[in-house]
Amino acid sequence: MSIQILPARLANQIAAGEVVERPASVVKELVENSLDAGATRIEIEIEQGGAKCIRIKDNGKGVSKEELTLALSRHATSKISHLDDLEAIVSLGFRGEALASVSSVSRLTFTSKPAEQDQAWQAIAEGRDMQVNVQPAAHPQGTTVEVLDLFFNTPARRRFLKTEKTEFQHIDELIKRIALSRFDIAITLKHNKKIVRQYRAAPEQAQQEKRIAAICSEQFIQHAVFFEHADQALKISGWVSDRLSPRPLADVQYCYINGRMIRDKLVNHAIKQVFAHYIPQGMFPGYIIYIECDAKEVDVNVHPAKHEVRFHQARWVHDFISSTLNSTLSDSSLLSHDVEAQ
Ligand code: ADP
Ligand code: MG
Repeated sequence: MSIQILPARLANQIAAGEVVERPASVVKELVENSLDAGATRIEIEIEQGGAKCIRIKDNGKGVSKEELTLALSRHATSKISHLDDLEAIVSLGFRGEALASVSSVSRLTFTSKPAEQDQAWQAIAEGRDMQVNVQPAAHPQGTTVEVLDLFFNTPARRRFLKTEKTEFQHIDELIKRIALSRFDIAITLKHNKKIVRQYRAAPEQAQQEKRIAAICSEQFIQHAVFFEHADQALKISGWVSDRLSPRPLADVQYCYINGRMIRDKLVNHAIKQVFAHYIPQGMFPGYIIYIECDAKEVDVNVHPAKHEVRFHQARWVHDFISSTLNSTLSDSSLLSHDVEAQ
C-alpha cells in the first residue's frame, strides 16, 4: 500500500480510541470543557446509559460563531498556545482533541452563545472529512453539546458497551467525583428524563458537608474531621473519616490536585503510610483530599485521560501530605477508639 494521509474522520477516530472509552468518558470531557469555560451551572441529560444521548448544557462563556468550526477541529484549543504553557496548565483540558474525537464517533451538535453575540449558532461535523456546518439556533448564554448515537459508526466499540444500567453507573460515579471537586458549581443529572442528582452551589462548609453526605453517605461525614494546612507553595485540605471499610473500592477515597481528580501513586502511598499507624491491616480509611499548588509543580501531560500526574518535587509533596494528616489524626479523637466497635 502506498503512503497516504488519513481522512480527518479516520484520524480522529483513531485518536478517539485514547480518550473515548465509554459514555462516561464523553461526559467527563464535556463537563471539563464547561468548567474550563467558567460555567457555574451544568445540566447533564443522559438517555439509555449515554448510548442514545448525552446532552450537556452550561452557562459558561461560550464560543463565537467564527470559532465554532475550529472548536470541533483536532488540535484546536483556546487553552494553550506555546510549549511554555504546557509547563503550567491551569485548565482541565489542553489537548484540543475531545470535541474532534467525540464528533468522529457520534452525531455531535455544538450550540453556543457568548455574551457579546446576540444570536446563538450551532455546528455539526459531518462526512468523511468532518466538514462543519454552521446554522443559527436558539440558546441562552453558554453552550449545549449534544452527542447522539455514540459509536454508531465504530461497531466494535459499540459492542463493548455494557448494559444501560452499568454505563449510567459510571456516569453517576463520575458526576459524584466532579461534584466533590467543585462545591461552587450547581449540577443536575437526569437519566431517561428523570432527575437522579441535583446539587446546589455550596459555598459554606456546612453546605459542602451536606453535599458530601449526599454523595459519600451520612456516616462518612459524621465520622469525618476537616483538615487544612498551607505553606507558601502548597495547600492541602479535606476530610478524613474513620468509617473503615474492608473493601477499598467501596469506600470514599477521592483526591484532587488543582481541581483535577487524579489517581496518584505518590499521594496514595503517603496516605496509606500515615493510616498504617492507626488502622488495622486490610482496613481502609475514607478521605477526600484537595491539594493545591503552583501549576508549574505538577505535570498533567502524562496520559491522554489526564488522571495521572507527575510532581516535580515528589518527596516534598509526599512529606507535606504525611505530616498534615499525621497531625490531624493525632489531634483528633478520630481513630482512637476500637475499630471493632463499629
Ligand atoms: P480542549 O478542552 O483540550 O481545549 P476540546 O476539544 O475539548 O479541547 O475543546 C476545544 C475548544 O472548544 C476549547 O479549547 C474551548 O475553546 C472550546 N469549548 C469546548 N467546549 C466548550 C464549552 N462548553 N464552553 C466554551 N467553550 C468550549
Ligand atoms: Mg476539553
